[in-house]
Amino acid sequence: MSATKSFPESVLISESCLQNRIRELGAQIFTDYENKELVLLGVLRGSVLFFADLARAIFKAQDENRTREVLLRFEFVQLMSYQDSTRPSTVKLIRGGSDYLTERHILIVEDIVDTGRTLTLLCEHLQTLNPKTVKVCALLDKPSQRQVPVVVDYIGFEIPDTFVVGYGLDYAQQYRNLPYIAVLEPI
Ligand code: 5GP
Repeated sequence: MSATKSFPESVLISESCLQNRIRELGAQIFTDYENKELVLLGVLRGSVLFFADLARAIFKAQDENRTREVLLRFEFVQLMSYQDSTRPSTVKLIRGGSDYLTERHILIVEDIVDTGRTLTLLCEHLQTLNPKTVKVCALLDKPSQRQVPVVVDYIGFEIPDTFVVGYGLDYAQQYRNLPYIAVLEPI
């Protein structure tokens, strides 16, 4: 089977910019959850690179003697969005959301918030599991595209209404391994 040819891309957020901001987010989250147990809940698949770097940034925010700490547990969910021409897209939970989340502090780690539908469905589902707290950390936010209001507690970058790839985000399952965020150029 031959590989599909990829589109050229232009960098929107560089690797160093991403890593600097993730370091800041990790430090902020560390302070907010100090001496607590926190469940990082990654939304598959787009958040995986962000999730891994954020988890390490939270660890690195500790002082050398580790007198303060945040105990992290990893959990994952997967959602799928269905689209037809007559209705706005509907979102369905297809994997995850275990009973372990009950009575826990949960931080949802999302790649990008666009219409807000995915997060809304996930937050509604989590509430049925009776967690202690639920907050949201999204690497990217496209506020101009919002269709349902959602609270995003930690935001990496606000971006304009443009389709982006890289650092976990795909186009037809490609580009996820770019270490930066890019916009595809038409050819
Ligand atoms: P929402 O439910 O907020 O409309 O959409 C969230 C999901 O849509 C994201 O988790 C992501 O999978 C997808 N998405 C939204 N905008 C983009 C984009 O610019 N690029 C990519 N690759 N996916 C996007």
